[in-house]
Formats: sequence, structure tokens, C-alpha cells
Amino acid sequence: MPLANPPLAARIALAIGRVAQAQRTALQAIATERGLSPLQIQILDVLAAGEPPVPRTQAIARELGVGQPTLTESINALQEKGLVSRTFDPIDRRRTTIALTDAGATTIADLGALPTALEEAITSLPPTVQEQLLEGVVGVVDALHAAGVISAARTCTSCAHLEPTESRCRHYRVPIRRRDVRVDCPAHAEG
Ligand code: SF4
Repeated sequence: MPLANPPLAARIALAIGRVAQAQRTALQAIATERGLSPLQIQILDVLAAGEPPVPRTQAIARELGVGQPTLTESINALQEKGLVSRTFDPIDRRRTTIALTDAGATTIADLGALPTALEEAITSLPPTVQEQLLEGVVGVVDALHAAGVISAARTCTSCAHLEPTESRCRHYRVPIRRRDVRVDCPAHAEG
């Protein structure tokens, strides 16, 4: 009896799921070591990357795909640890701006300097395969964003600043070759 093989898309989804699992495991290990939760590390990471999103609870919750109460709880914990601070809007005290403290910035800089197992695995692939992988994964990110499954993609391939016929970014005035495509670009404009 021939080996039943699931459809190509299903096998790719399974492989991406394995990659996501590796990322979750690595994040959990780092979080445990630092006495933080994975979500707390993600919040620090978003704040360190800068806008967008604006550093407010609602926008960060949308970015990370979690509910506002969950996010507020994590921000409270980060504030107690001295890693973030809150500034109240003088006109509407229900609105607060969240910022990294010096200790928070140091923590996330330390973590960012660590090469992840996933990055190392990707680096081990031939450059042409890395480019194909980037193209394919960015295509999946764009499709998920277009379907409303993820709130932010900010990819060159979905950006109004991309001049597709010349493969150039009108904003930064640089070529965007296949390997240059960015994800989570701060200057991205919805196309
Ligand atoms: S602004 Fe950013 S996302 Fe848009 S094309 Fe230029 S580099 Fe890419």
C-alpha cells in the first residue's frame, strides 16, 4: 500500500508549526531563566523595537494577539519588577503610555544579543534556500494578515512604498532585492 502523504500545504503548515514550537520552547526557557513570562519578554521586545505600535495597552495587545486584561496583568508585573514605567495622559487618565526603564532596556538588549537556535538553523542553509524561505514565509505572513488572522505584517511585499517594477523602496530609496525584503518595517505603509 503506497504511503499516504498529506497535501503539500498541510505538510508545510506542519513544518511551520514545528518551527513555532521551537520558538515557543526557546522563549519559555529564556523567560524561566530571567524570572519572566514569555508574554512579558514579548512586551519588552515590542517596546524596544519602537513604534509602530504606539506604546499603549490596546495597541500592544492587538500587536501580540492577546486580550487587554492579560496584557495589563503582564505590564503590571513588569512595572513591579522595575522593567517598564507608565505615564498617565493628563487629559484622560485611563490612557497610559508604557516605556522601558533603563533596567528593561538592558534586559531586552541582553536577550537580543543571544543568537537563537532558529537563526542558527536558518544560517546553516545555503543562501539561495534562505532567500526562497524568506519569500515563502513572507508570502504566508501577507496572506494571514490579509485574512485578518494576524494584526501586523509590515512587509515590503505589502507596502505602498514598494515600486514593484523596479523593486525599489521609495521611502528609503534603496533596492529591495529578494533577500532584502523586510518584515516589521517601521516605515511600512499599507498598500
Ligand atoms: S518602507 Fe519599509 S516595508 Fe516599505 S518598501 Fe521600504 S523597506 Fe520595505
